[in-house]
Amino acid sequence: MPAFSFRVTHVDGRARRGVMTTAHGDVQTPAFMPVGTQGAVKGVIHRDLEQLGADILLSNTYHLYLRPGDGLIARRGGLHAFIGWPRPILTDSGGYQVFSLAARRTIDEEGVRFRSHLDGSAHLLTPEKAVDIQAQLGSDIAMVLDECLASPSGEELVRPSMQRTLRWARRARDRFLTLYEKRGRESFSDRGSFPDRGSFSGDSVIVTNPAQAQFGIVQGGVSPELREESARGTVGVGFEAYAIGGLSVGEPADVMYNVVAGTTPCLPPDRPRYLMGAGTPQDLVESVARGIDLFDCVLPTRNGRNGQLFTSEGPINIKNARYAEDDRPPDPACGCYTCRTCSRAYLRHLFQAGEINACTLNTLHNLHFYLDTLRQIRDAIAFERFESFRAAFHQSLSRRLHDS
Ligand SMILES: [Zn+2]
Repeated sequence: MPAFSFRVTHVDGRARRGVMTTAHGDVQTPAFMPVGTQGAVKGVIHRDLEQLGADILLSNTYHLYLRPGDGLIARRGGLHAFIGWPRPILTDSGGYQVFSLAARRTIDEEGVRFRSHLDGSAHLLTPEKAVDIQAQLGSDIAMVLDECLASPSGEELVRPSMQRTLRWARRARDRFLTLYEKRGRESFSDRGSFPDRGSFSGDSVIVTNPAQAQFGIVQGGVSPELREESARGTVGVGFEAYAIGGLSVGEPADVMYNVVAGTTPCLPPDRPRYLMGAGTPQDLVESVARGIDLFDCVLPTRNGRNGQLFTSEGPINIKNARYAEDDRPPDPACGCYTCRTCSRAYLRHLFQAGEINACTLNTLHNLHFYLDTLRQIRDAIAFERFESFRAAFHQSLSRRLHDS
């Protein structure tokens, strides 16, 4: 089983192209991760995702922990086996959903106490527990538990929250290293029975992917000083790679870009950088320009289900009456299945009729648009023409007025 690694192959300005290697295959970066909340991307099946060229999926620990349970998934051999997806998977820590979905949550130094949004049952999510759950899921990349502030907050809230996230990061790393016995080979031979491959069990946690990597998360709101302090502290703990969290929560785009631009230089150049939860097509291009390698976002899937299609000339809303007799494909510049076979008129009809295929066809197009944008970005970086790609991309998006 190959260990986690990352290699930058091309640099163009601050944009990087690279290859992230995991036990379940390579990810070409910069990469976009479709969101498969419940172990499935809503509206499409894994076969579609493979055909779209998705290298890696994101799945949500909170949802899988509550239902069907990480123990049940571990007993099936882990998330890859359970859902039938052989390629890389990243799982979040569950924190974001606990902070945004759970009922009656309270936070203290130990962790977050919350009640399930499904049945009201009481749970405690600690940094250690988030590591254990993700070990049982066996994702290729596990995220540490961080404290998520709901919206842009003042420094008096952000500083203690960032410091708590840092203390939690140390606890999460300690737990991870204990679980995976990565402190040194001596500890393996001392025990004499460490299996070199496949799953093993310790402290009743079934580790289903011994090659799992763990990413730390930089917090600190929109303050450059707090972001730098958080980055220094998180890198000091030492993770396989680093994410930037707490952005794309309602702050203006240029504020987010400035935070990204200020944070990436504080992160090791030889490790992937993951901007969590962003964003629009413009956000992807602008963040790559500032040194980001990994993205996830619900926009292409969620908005697709709501009838919004991202196109090379800006988003269109297929519900709009003006498309009732429009025979053009959603995006004449797109080569996806939906654009090759469906007119705007047909897609509008399916949406108006509440036909389930409307979700599938819209989602297929939007994911293709996102994944293809990243493909174009990677090509542009390889040929050292990222700046001209970036200019042309923005010019195309603003070619006409958006209607949604
Ligand atoms: Zn298309």
